[in-house]
Amino acid sequence: MQVEVLPSAVRNVVHSHRCGGRRIGLVPTMGALHVGHVSLMDAARRNCDFVIASIFVNPLQFGPNEDLERYPRSLEKDLQKCEAAGVDLVFTPQASQMYAPGAESEVRLTGLTRMLEGRHRPSHFDGVTTVVAKLFNITLPDQAYFGQKDYQQQLIIRRMVSDLDWGVEIVTCPIVREDDGLALSSRNRYLSPADRERSLVLFRALSLAQELAETASETPDSIARQMRQLFSDTDGVDLDYAVVVDCKTLELLTGRPECAVALIAARLGKTRLIDNQILRFR
Ligand code: AMP
Repeated sequence: MQVEVLPSAVRNVVHSHRCGGRRIGLVPTMGALHVGHVSLMDAARRNCDFVIASIFVNPLQFGPNEDLERYPRSLEKDLQKCEAAGVDLVFTPQASQMYAPGAESEVRLTGLTRMLEGRHRPSHFDGVTTVVAKLFNITLPDQAYFGQKDYQQQLIIRRMVSDLDWGVEIVTCPIVREDDGLALSSRNRYLSPADRERSLVLFRALSLAQELAETASETPDSIARQMRQLFSDTDGVDLDYAVVVDCKTLELLTGRPECAVALIAARLGKTRLIDNQILRFR
Protein backbone atom coordinates (compact mmCIF):
# COMPACT_ATOMS: atom_id res chain seq x y z
CA MET A 1 0.00 0.00 0.00
CA GLN A 2 1.27 3.39 -1.02
CA VAL A 3 1.02 6.41 1.32
CA GLU A 4 1.26 9.87 -0.23
CA VAL A 5 1.24 13.30 1.38
CA LEU A 6 1.53 15.49 -1.71
CA PRO A 7 -1.38 16.12 -4.10
CA SER A 8 1.09 16.14 -7.03
CA ALA A 9 2.30 12.62 -6.13
CA VAL A 10 -1.30 11.34 -6.02
CA ARG A 11 -2.02 13.01 -9.35
CA ASN A 12 0.90 11.15 -10.98
CA VAL A 13 -0.20 7.77 -9.64
CA VAL A 14 -3.81 8.39 -10.67
CA HIS A 15 -2.72 9.45 -14.15
CA SER A 16 -0.93 6.15 -14.79
CA HIS A 17 -3.88 4.08 -13.51
CA ARG A 18 -6.39 6.04 -15.57
CA CYS A 19 -4.23 5.53 -18.67
CA GLY A 20 -4.27 1.81 -17.88
CA GLY A 21 -8.10 1.94 -17.94
CA ARG A 22 -8.47 1.12 -14.24
CA ARG A 23 -11.57 2.10 -12.32
CA ILE A 24 -10.68 4.37 -9.41
CA GLY A 25 -12.64 4.43 -6.15
CA LEU A 26 -12.22 7.16 -3.52
CA VAL A 27 -13.16 6.88 0.18
CA PRO A 28 -12.80 10.29 1.88
CA THR A 29 -12.36 10.15 5.68
CA MET A 30 -11.08 12.20 8.58
CA GLY A 31 -9.28 9.19 10.09
CA ALA A 32 -9.84 7.63 13.54
CA LEU A 33 -11.10 4.77 11.39
CA HIS A 34 -13.70 2.28 12.58
CA VAL A 35 -15.70 -0.54 11.03
CA GLY A 36 -18.08 1.99 9.41
CA HIS A 37 -15.20 3.50 7.42
CA VAL A 38 -13.89 0.03 6.59
CA SER A 39 -17.31 -0.92 5.16
CA LEU A 40 -16.88 1.90 2.61
CA MET A 41 -13.41 0.62 1.73
CA ASP A 42 -14.76 -2.93 1.35
CA ALA A 43 -17.46 -1.68 -1.03
CA ALA A 44 -14.89 0.28 -3.04
CA ARG A 45 -12.63 -2.78 -3.13
CA ARG A 46 -15.47 -4.88 -4.57
CA ASN A 47 -16.30 -2.40 -7.35
CA CYS A 48 -13.04 -0.68 -8.29
CA ASP A 49 -9.59 -1.64 -9.56
CA PHE A 50 -7.68 0.99 -7.60
CA VAL A 51 -8.90 2.16 -4.18
CA ILE A 52 -7.79 5.46 -2.68
CA ALA A 53 -8.64 6.40 0.92
CA SER A 54 -8.00 9.95 2.06
CA ILE A 55 -7.32 10.76 5.71
CA PHE A 56 -7.57 14.47 6.38
CA VAL A 57 -9.01 16.29 9.38
CA ASN A 58 -10.35 19.17 7.32
CA PRO A 59 -10.08 22.41 9.36
CA LEU A 60 -12.48 24.18 7.00
CA GLN A 61 -15.46 22.09 8.13
CA PHE A 62 -15.05 22.80 11.86
CA GLY A 63 -16.68 25.87 13.42
CA PRO A 64 -14.74 28.13 15.84
CA ASN A 65 -16.19 26.42 18.93
CA GLU A 66 -16.07 22.87 17.60
CA ASP A 67 -13.70 19.98 18.32
CA LEU A 68 -10.96 20.44 15.66
CA GLU A 69 -8.15 20.39 18.22
CA ARG A 70 -9.40 17.37 20.13
CA TYR A 71 -10.65 15.43 17.09
CA PRO A 72 -9.07 11.94 17.46
CA ARG A 73 -5.99 11.27 15.34
CA SER A 74 -4.49 7.78 15.03
CA LEU A 75 -2.59 7.63 11.73
CA GLU A 76 -0.54 4.49 12.40
CA LYS A 77 -3.57 2.42 13.36
CA ASP A 78 -5.55 3.93 10.48
CA LEU A 79 -2.92 2.89 7.96
CA GLN A 80 -3.02 -0.67 9.31
CA LYS A 81 -6.80 -0.73 8.84
CA CYS A 82 -6.51 0.63 5.31
CA GLU A 83 -3.91 -1.99 4.45
CA ALA A 84 -6.08 -4.79 5.89
CA ALA A 85 -9.04 -3.49 3.85
CA GLY A 86 -7.01 -3.75 0.65
CA VAL A 87 -6.68 -0.01 0.01
CA ASP A 88 -4.08 0.70 -2.70
CA LEU A 89 -3.20 4.28 -1.84
CA VAL A 90 -3.74 6.43 1.25
CA PHE A 91 -3.65 10.19 0.73
CA THR A 92 -2.80 12.01 3.98
CA PRO A 93 -2.20 15.65 3.09
CA GLN A 94 -1.25 18.41 5.51
CA ALA A 95 -3.63 21.36 5.82
CA SER A 96 -0.94 23.61 4.34
CA GLN A 97 -0.89 21.47 1.19
CA MET A 98 -4.65 21.49 0.80
CA TYR A 99 -5.09 25.19 1.55
CA ALA A 100 -2.17 27.19 0.23
CA PRO A 101 -1.75 30.70 1.61
CA GLY A 102 -3.71 33.11 -0.53
CA ALA A 103 -6.31 30.54 -1.65
CA GLU A 104 -9.62 32.29 -2.33
CA SER A 105 -11.85 29.68 -3.94
CA GLU A 106 -14.50 27.60 -2.28
CA VAL A 107 -17.42 25.47 -3.41
CA ARG A 108 -20.65 26.49 -1.74
CA LEU A 109 -24.19 25.19 -2.22
CA THR A 110 -26.98 27.55 -1.33
CA GLY A 111 -30.01 25.40 -0.43
CA LEU A 112 -29.48 21.95 1.05
CA THR A 113 -26.47 23.17 3.03
CA ARG A 114 -28.49 25.77 4.91
CA MET A 115 -30.96 23.32 6.49
CA LEU A 116 -30.76 21.07 9.58
CA GLU A 117 -27.02 20.44 10.18
CA GLY A 118 -26.26 23.64 8.26
CA ARG A 119 -28.38 25.68 10.68
CA HIS A 120 -26.55 24.29 13.69
CA ARG A 121 -23.10 24.29 12.07
CA PRO A 122 -22.93 27.36 9.80
CA SER A 123 -20.23 27.01 7.10
CA HIS A 124 -19.67 23.31 7.97
CA PHE A 125 -20.92 22.09 4.60
CA ASP A 126 -18.99 24.81 2.73
CA GLY A 127 -15.86 23.21 4.19
CA VAL A 128 -17.10 19.74 3.22
CA THR A 129 -17.96 20.60 -0.39
CA THR A 130 -14.71 22.52 -0.86
CA VAL A 131 -12.52 19.68 0.41
CA VAL A 132 -14.47 17.00 -1.46
CA ALA A 133 -14.22 19.04 -4.68
CA LYS A 134 -10.46 19.25 -4.18
CA LEU A 135 -10.20 15.52 -3.42
CA PHE A 136 -12.20 14.75 -6.58
CA ASN A 137 -9.88 16.96 -8.64
CA ILE A 138 -6.75 15.38 -7.17
CA THR A 139 -7.85 11.74 -7.35
CA LEU A 140 -10.19 11.79 -10.41
CA PRO A 141 -12.33 8.92 -9.10
CA ASP A 142 -14.91 6.99 -11.11
CA GLN A 143 -16.77 6.33 -7.87
CA ALA A 144 -16.70 7.99 -4.44
CA TYR A 145 -18.03 6.28 -1.33
CA PHE A 146 -19.93 8.02 1.47
CA GLY A 147 -21.87 6.77 4.49
CA GLN A 148 -25.60 7.14 4.97
CA LYS A 149 -24.60 7.99 8.54
CA ASP A 150 -24.02 11.56 7.29
CA TYR A 151 -27.28 11.61 5.36
CA GLN A 152 -27.39 15.32 4.55
CA GLN A 153 -23.71 15.28 3.53
CA GLN A 154 -24.15 12.54 0.91
CA LEU A 155 -27.21 14.35 -0.46
CA ILE A 156 -25.20 17.57 -0.76
CA ILE A 157 -22.31 15.78 -2.49
CA ARG A 158 -24.78 14.24 -4.96
CA ARG A 159 -26.25 17.71 -5.62
CA MET A 160 -22.77 19.19 -6.12
CA VAL A 161 -21.72 16.43 -8.54
CA SER A 162 -24.91 16.87 -10.54
CA ASP A 163 -24.81 20.70 -10.55
CA LEU A 164 -21.16 20.84 -11.61
CA ASP A 165 -21.33 17.96 -14.13
CA TRP A 166 -18.72 15.88 -12.36
CA GLY A 167 -18.39 12.42 -13.86
CA VAL A 168 -18.18 10.78 -10.43
CA GLU A 169 -20.69 8.18 -9.30
CA ILE A 170 -21.62 8.66 -5.66
CA VAL A 171 -22.19 5.44 -3.74
CA THR A 172 -23.94 5.67 -0.36
CA CYS A 173 -23.23 2.79 2.03
CA PRO A 174 -25.49 1.65 4.91
CA ILE A 175 -24.96 2.78 8.50
CA VAL A 176 -22.82 0.38 10.55
CA ARG A 177 -24.01 0.15 14.17
CA GLU A 178 -22.86 -1.29 17.47
CA ASP A 179 -24.81 -4.35 18.62
CA ASP A 180 -27.07 -2.15 20.75
CA GLY A 181 -27.87 0.18 17.84
CA LEU A 182 -25.52 3.15 18.38
CA ALA A 183 -24.17 4.23 14.98
CA LEU A 184 -20.37 3.94 14.88
CA SER A 185 -18.70 7.34 14.97
CA SER A 186 -15.18 8.57 15.66
CA ARG A 187 -16.77 10.81 18.30
CA ASN A 188 -18.33 7.94 20.31
CA ARG A 189 -15.04 7.53 22.19
CA TYR A 190 -15.70 10.89 23.89
CA LEU A 191 -18.86 9.59 25.57
CA SER A 192 -18.70 8.97 29.33
CA PRO A 193 -20.19 5.60 30.38
CA ALA A 194 -23.38 7.40 31.47
CA ASP A 195 -23.65 9.30 28.18
CA ARG A 196 -22.92 6.09 26.23
CA GLU A 197 -25.98 4.58 27.94
CA ARG A 198 -28.08 7.68 27.23
CA SER A 199 -26.94 7.75 23.59
CA LEU A 200 -29.20 4.78 22.89
CA VAL A 201 -32.16 7.16 22.84
CA LEU A 202 -31.18 8.10 19.27
CA PHE A 203 -31.59 4.56 17.98
CA ARG A 204 -34.71 4.07 20.09
CA ALA A 205 -36.27 7.19 18.55
CA LEU A 206 -35.40 6.03 15.01
CA SER A 207 -36.80 2.54 15.68
CA LEU A 208 -39.96 4.14 17.07
CA ALA A 209 -40.21 6.30 13.93
CA GLN A 210 -40.04 3.22 11.70
CA GLU A 211 -42.63 1.41 13.82
CA LEU A 212 -44.98 4.41 13.63
CA ALA A 213 -44.47 4.81 9.88
CA GLU A 214 -45.99 1.35 9.50
CA THR A 215 -49.14 2.51 11.33
CA ALA A 216 -51.71 3.95 8.91
CA SER A 217 -52.89 6.78 11.19
CA GLU A 218 -49.44 8.33 11.73
CA THR A 219 -48.07 11.23 9.69
CA PRO A 220 -44.50 12.59 9.42
CA ASP A 221 -45.48 15.35 11.83
CA SER A 222 -47.00 13.02 14.45
CA ILE A 223 -43.97 10.74 14.19
CA ALA A 224 -41.53 13.63 14.68
CA ARG A 225 -43.50 14.80 17.72
CA GLN A 226 -43.30 11.35 19.32
CA MET A 227 -39.57 11.17 18.62
CA ARG A 228 -39.08 14.53 20.32
CA GLN A 229 -41.21 13.38 23.28
CA LEU A 230 -38.81 10.48 23.80
CA PHE A 231 -35.96 12.99 24.09
CA SER A 232 -37.90 15.23 26.51
CA ASP A 233 -38.31 12.15 28.69
CA THR A 234 -34.54 11.47 28.71
CA ASP A 235 -32.31 13.51 31.05
CA GLY A 236 -28.85 14.63 29.93
CA VAL A 237 -29.51 14.63 26.18
CA ASP A 238 -29.99 18.00 24.45
CA LEU A 239 -31.83 17.62 21.19
CA ASP A 240 -30.83 19.89 18.29
CA TYR A 241 -33.47 18.42 15.99
CA ALA A 242 -35.56 15.31 15.36
CA VAL A 243 -37.49 15.58 12.11
CA VAL A 244 -39.16 13.49 9.43
CA VAL A 245 -38.48 15.07 6.03
CA ASP A 246 -38.46 14.32 2.32
CA CYS A 247 -35.53 12.00 1.62
CA LYS A 248 -34.33 14.06 -1.39
CA THR A 249 -35.15 17.69 -0.56
CA LEU A 250 -35.11 17.53 3.27
CA GLU A 251 -38.30 19.64 3.21
CA LEU A 252 -41.01 19.05 5.82
CA LEU A 253 -43.75 16.72 4.62
CA THR A 254 -47.50 16.50 4.75
CA GLY A 255 -49.41 13.27 4.21
CA ARG A 256 -47.76 9.88 3.99
CA PRO A 257 -44.87 10.22 1.56
CA GLU A 258 -43.18 7.67 -0.67
CA CYS A 259 -39.74 8.41 0.66
CA ALA A 260 -39.01 10.02 4.00
CA VAL A 261 -36.05 10.08 6.33
CA ALA A 262 -35.98 10.60 10.09
CA LEU A 263 -32.96 12.70 11.07
CA ILE A 264 -31.68 13.37 14.59
CA ALA A 265 -28.89 15.48 16.07
CA ALA A 266 -28.35 15.57 19.83
CA ARG A 267 -25.69 16.67 22.29
CA LEU A 268 -24.52 14.57 25.24
CA GLY A 269 -22.07 16.55 27.35
CA LYS A 270 -19.62 18.02 24.83
CA THR A 271 -20.28 15.32 22.25
CA ARG A 272 -22.70 15.85 19.38
CA LEU A 273 -24.17 12.78 17.70
CA ILE A 274 -26.19 12.47 14.48
CA ASP A 275 -28.15 9.51 13.19
CA ASN A 276 -30.93 8.76 10.73
CA GLN A 277 -33.26 6.14 9.31
CA ILE A 278 -35.03 6.01 5.95
CA LEU A 279 -38.71 5.37 6.69
CA ARG A 280 -40.91 2.98 4.81
CA PHE A 281 -44.56 4.07 5.03
CA ARG A 282 -47.07 1.27 4.56
P1 AMP B 1 -15.69 10.86 8.77
O1 AMP B 1 -14.32 10.31 8.95
O2 AMP B 1 -16.49 10.94 10.02
O3 AMP B 1 -15.69 12.15 7.97
O4 AMP B 1 -16.46 9.81 7.86
C1 AMP B 1 -15.96 9.41 6.63
C2 AMP B 1 -17.03 8.63 5.90
O5 AMP B 1 -17.39 7.48 6.65
C3 AMP B 1 -18.31 9.47 5.69
O6 AMP B 1 -18.80 9.23 4.39
C4 AMP B 1 -19.22 8.90 6.74
O7 AMP B 1 -20.59 9.03 6.42
C5 AMP B 1 -18.79 7.45 6.79
N1 AMP B 1 -19.20 6.84 8.06
C6 AMP B 1 -18.96 7.33 9.30
N2 AMP B 1 -19.55 6.54 10.23
C7 AMP B 1 -20.17 5.54 9.56
C8 AMP B 1 -20.97 4.42 9.96
N3 AMP B 1 -21.25 4.18 11.23
N4 AMP B 1 -21.45 3.62 8.99
C9 AMP B 1 -21.18 3.86 7.68
N5 AMP B 1 -20.44 4.89 7.25
C10 AMP B 1 -19.94 5.73 8.17
